[in-house]
Amino acid sequence: MEKKNAWLSYKKREEKAVFALNEDYKKYLSASKTERLAVKNTIAEAEKQGFVNIETLIAEGKPVKPGDRIYAVWMKKTAALFVIGEEPLSAGMNILGAHIDSPRLDIKQVPLYEDKEFAYLDTHYYGGIKKYQWVALPLAMYGVIVKKDGTVVDVAIGDKPTDPVLVITDLLPHLGADQMKKDAGRIIEGEDLNVMIGSKPLEGEEKEAVKAQLLKYFKDVYDIEEDDFLSAELEVVPAGETRDLGMDRALVLGYGHDDRVCAYTSMRAILETASPKKTAVCLLTDKEEIGSVGATGAQSFFFENTVAEILNLMGETSNLAVRRALANSRMISSDVSAGFDPIYPGVNEPKNSAYLGHGICFNKFTGARGKSGSNDANAEYVAVIRKIMEDNKVAFQTSELGKVDQGGGGTIAYISAKYGMSVIDAGVPVLSMHAPWEAVSKADVYEAVKCYKAFLKDA
Ligand code: MN
Ligand code: MN
Repeated sequence: MEKKNAWLSYKKREEKAVFALNEDYKKYLSASKTERLAVKNTIAEAEKQGFVNIETLIAEGKPVKPGDRIYAVWMKKTAALFVIGEEPLSAGMNILGAHIDSPRLDIKQVPLYEDKEFAYLDTHYYGGIKKYQWVALPLAMYGVIVKKDGTVVDVAIGDKPTDPVLVITDLLPHLGADQMKKDAGRIIEGEDLNVMIGSKPLEGEEKEAVKAQLLKYFKDVYDIEEDDFLSAELEVVPAGETRDLGMDRALVLGYGHDDRVCAYTSMRAILETASPKKTAVCLLTDKEEIGSVGATGAQSFFFENTVAEILNLMGETSNLAVRRALANSRMISSDVSAGFDPIYPGVNEPKNSAYLGHGICFNKFTGARGKSGSNDANAEYVAVIRKIMEDNKVAFQTSELGKVDQGGGGTIAYISAKYGMSVIDAGVPVLSMHAPWEAVSKADVYEAVKCYKAFLKDA
């Protein structure tokens, strides 16, 4: 059962392809720090590869036929890409599903305040974070402010070389004795995650002159008033580019590998898929980190509705066809695995751990305690997947999320499984998952694309 390191299997030319793919991935990840940006950048790539907006097809009443490349977007935060297959849709689809939201700090609705001549934006964290990791590092802010008249103002600050950055300050160790006695969950309190954005008073203002200066800045740069924050979605994320990690450049350090590394590789796989037997799908969902809820989360009917629309454009209007298309589908819930970290070996069971550089990692089940909340894929389906991986010479491994009773977690797998479709989790192993900077292996990114392409072709 010993698995070889994937790097050892590459000849010169393939190793070059591994590095080239990761250069493209690094650019995508640096440019996609929010779910909105991930959708925007994915759709831009898809349009270049001939994908057409389903809204256009619906408006023109254009029939859909095998080979067609279609995309659908909902609320700018979730998307689905389809390459229509030769077989009827009711025979099922091959679906790659990844999430494009990542842990971060969201700006509150009433965020702006001044305290002792510093101006701050107050935040509410999103997803599972270790709060102490988010202080004393350069931060960027992305998102939209929507004015009452519907004007959408895009905000992107902190990543251009000429931009300023933002920060949440930490206490100096000299005065940190009391702080350091607290348990790690409370060293930095959630309510203290306040992003400093300014400190220069506005001339002529008597009270809260720094806040006044910032309000003037917001007016001048974005043409917004203070109450426009009420209808804004602003996300604070680590500032800086995705970088090579290690002197051998074998790893990638970046913000939001969970789960944009699987979103990117799933996107690559579908962009490189033409005339499949079964309809190929890449589904990118939002809000996984907070339970896949909401209109753009995997639990929404967005995907089901889109399948119904496509069937309709193929002249198939019955609800039964939708049910059959979903029930007969096969899915890879493509989400990252917890990579084995030799600094913290105690949380894993070595035989059933994910190793960086050993390829795409399948999780038959996730969950906590007695597999609670897990999808637990069917053995028959796992056998199908194993065969596809071996036939296509994909480096793959299998793992559990930590040793028994150590913790646990979930993905979107159980949600799609509700339709009766076969679903298994598979993704790229990550070190420092949910930290501001996470690490993945370039070999695993490469094997993920190979895996997803093979799945779309052969499942
Ligand atoms: Mn994830
Ligand atoms: Mn996660």
